[in-house]
Amino acid sequence: QSASQAWKASFEEMAVRISEIEDAVIAARSADVQDVGNRILRKLAGIESDDVLREREGPLVVVSDDLTPSDTIALDRSKVVGFCTSAGGPTSHAAILARSLGIPAIVNSGKQALELVNGTQVIIDGTAGVLTIDPDHDSVAAARASARRQEETHAAAVRAAIQPATTQDGHRVAVCANISSLTELPKALAEGADGVGLLRTEWLFLERTGPPSEKEQISVLQEIIRVLDGRPLVVRTLDIGGDKPLPYVAMEHESNPFLGERGIRLALARPDLLRVQLRAIFRAAQADQMRVMFPMVSDHGELQAVTKIFEEVRQEISGPAVVKGIMIEVPSAALMADVLAEEVDFFSIGTNDLTQYTLAADRLNPRVNGLSDAMHPAVLRLIDQTIRMAHNKEKHVALCGELGADIQAVPVLVGLGLDEISVSVPALADVKALIRELSWDTSREIAQQALKCATAEEVRKLTTPYLVGRSTLDRGT
Ligand code: PEP
Ligand code: MG
Repeated sequence: QSASQAWKASFEEMAVRISEIEDAVIAARSADVQDVGNRILRKLAGIESDDVLREREGPLVVVSDDLTPSDTIALDRSKVVGFCTSAGGPTSHAAILARSLGIPAIVNSGKQALELVNGTQVIIDGTAGVLTIDPDHDSVAAARASARRQEETHAAAVRAAIQPATTQDGHRVAVCANISSLTELPKALAEGADGVGLLRTEWLFLERTGPPSEKEQISVLQEIIRVLDGRPLVVRTLDIGGDKPLPYVAMEHESNPFLGERGIRLALARPDLLRVQLRAIFRAAQADQMRVMFPMVSDHGELQAVTKIFEEVRQEISGPAVVKGIMIEVPSAALMADVLAEEVDFFSIGTNDLTQYTLAADRLNPRVNGLSDAMHPAVLRLIDQTIRMAHNKEKHVALCGELGADIQAVPVLVGLGLDEISVSVPALADVKALIRELSWDTSREIAQQALKCATAEEVRKLTTPYLVGRSTLDRGT
């Protein structure tokens, strides 16, 4: 192994071993080993200083090969106004976080960006996916004016955000928030969230050296419930693996982690983590408000196995009857939606994973980003089938993938008959404003045409005339 690889493997192993020591004070020292380990790793890699950001005045645009979700959370928001990574994809978890933090970002920029010298002036346009290097005076003025216009449009949508998202002809769609922490919630409510459609609980497990205790989890959930004040909360159980490893959960090396032991598969392999989480959910639950959702279900057997644990834990602590649902993010689950709908109360369609699995295009691999457009008719047909099958059984269907915040997709998604769309916080008000402008009849026609298209580009062309004057999401960003 190279020196860096050998060093990384040994200090990480040591950090995990320390984190497993029973004495909590000693276990917490694992973070120090990680920190020192990372500093030495940076020296080995020839990175002069690990404090580039601290040494510089803002505003800054961070340019790097890639960012992990924890790097993204750690960015100093008082200085960092945007980031650009040469790798990654629009549905990588770092990009999802950037969206929920409202940070302009470009992913998959190509390697040239890495050659930029520190201190170079740039304009980052996250909508178009363009990084302008050494812009002239006119370009800077135009960028500032465009940012101001976007802020004004958004501010108008936010002023109306509390109004329901009802189409011109009276069809209402719930618009909820995807959040990963309590801190995002007040803004979500101020910007019109009808509830939380996806709480990505794995974020509560990141940036630490051991899993949060049941007590800690209960207190976070209770606080979220309190702030929600009666609005619904969908708690997704731990979805780790893939691009979200946890340092203190030992995982075998897998050559295809996205096709390996992730999501519900890992939870079933490590039921200790799941059981603590379920106990916290039942103990925090308030009647009618709490919904539990299991990620990455690909098969009826998995659903039965997890339902068994869910019921066992509920009975052990005499927990309340909590509404139970699953994510539909694996094509097999979409194809078997009629069977799965019998066993659950609701579905939430995860288009980020559904797209990568349907089109066989890794959501992190920049070389296949062009292929993985969730507007592809193959994905839309699976969404359509899922909705119809669930509605046949009178089950609620939400969508919580990034597609829900894609302005070009909204008319199609409304037309396919979703009951709820759940999006990152900065997109809430804009999605609601757009739905209020749509007609339910026309949206249904557009959706039927979309299902007959041959390519994602054709679908995008269909909806463009309905979106005049709105900035559409560029798929490279
Ligand atoms: C999805 O896959 O669409 C989803 C919402 O889950 P995540 O992005 O957290 O994998
Ligand atoms: Mg997913």
